[in-house]
Amino acid sequence: MLREKLNRFMQGRYGADEFSRFLLAVMIIFWVISMILRIIFPWSRKFYVVWTICNYISYAAVIYCWFRMFSKNIHKRYRENVKYIKYRDKFLNIFKKNAINKDYRIFKCPKCRQKIRVPKNKGKIVISCPKCKTEFIKKT
Ligand SMILES: [Zn+2]
Repeated sequence: MLREKLNRFMQGRYGADEFSRFLLAVMIIFWVISMILRIIFPWSRKFYVVWTICNYISYAAVIYCWFRMFSKNIHKRYRENVKYIKYRDKFLNIFKKNAINKDYRIFKCPKCRQKIRVPKNKGKIVISCPKCKTEFIKKT
């Protein structure tokens, strides 16, 4: 019965997506931070301000999340989600790139200055430039 009612209520409404999951995560993180601050520094005025801000952020996140889930403007919510995913992937790519660069070294071709990526810790190897075919020896 309740499920049926809920289903009817949610009909034509946007529901949950990646962005709302992110908002819920934000809410939980800031809520936990504010709880920890409350426990560790119960009388500190400085932390009271931080605690209040964290609380507000977590409330704002959950209210915005609910607003999106119950929204009937599906197109707008969908576009927000697409935008969120775009920014999220951009952000994650920064870490991915750093992880890749850890395992590689970048050398410049002595002739044409072309940048060449070579795996690390392979000892002395002969590198041939993919652009001008110049060969040079480098320690990786
Ligand atoms: Zn070259």
